[in-house]
Amino acid sequence: MAYFTMTKMALKWALKKPVTKQYPFVPRVPMPGARGQLEFTKDNCTYCTVCGKKCPTKAIVVNRQAKKWTLDRLLCISCNACVEICPKDCLQLNGHHGTVVVTKDKEIHG
Ligand code: SF4
Ligand code: SF4
Repeated sequence: MAYFTMTKMALKWALKKPVTKQYPFVPRVPMPGARGQLEFTKDNCTYCTVCGKKCPTKAIVVNRQAKKWTLDRLLCISCNACVEICPKDCLQLNGHHGTVVVTKDKEIHG
């Protein structure tokens, strides 16, 4: 009896469409309200370091003297704290999933 039930269930699931997507070959549509990835616009940045101090994961490091703004994207949890605190509106969360990466390079602007 158990064998019959198990076979029936296996056949039922084998004939269903997969519930997962073939990411990254099939792009994922972001959920409504998703925060997405952090974007930095350097034009108005004064390298005040406030965003780096506010970041809970230390994903942002700002070097005021060298005028370098660095993001470790793998540390960013899209919490929005830096976006809210930036006095120059240089930071935004874009609402989209990021691209798949195979290296742990940091993004350096400056
Ligand atoms: S808080 Fe804004 S202006 Fe200040 S360093 Fe960060 S991005 Fe630049
Ligand atoms: S969104 Fe949050 S975790 Fe990401 S860089 Fe800004 S403060 Fe840090």
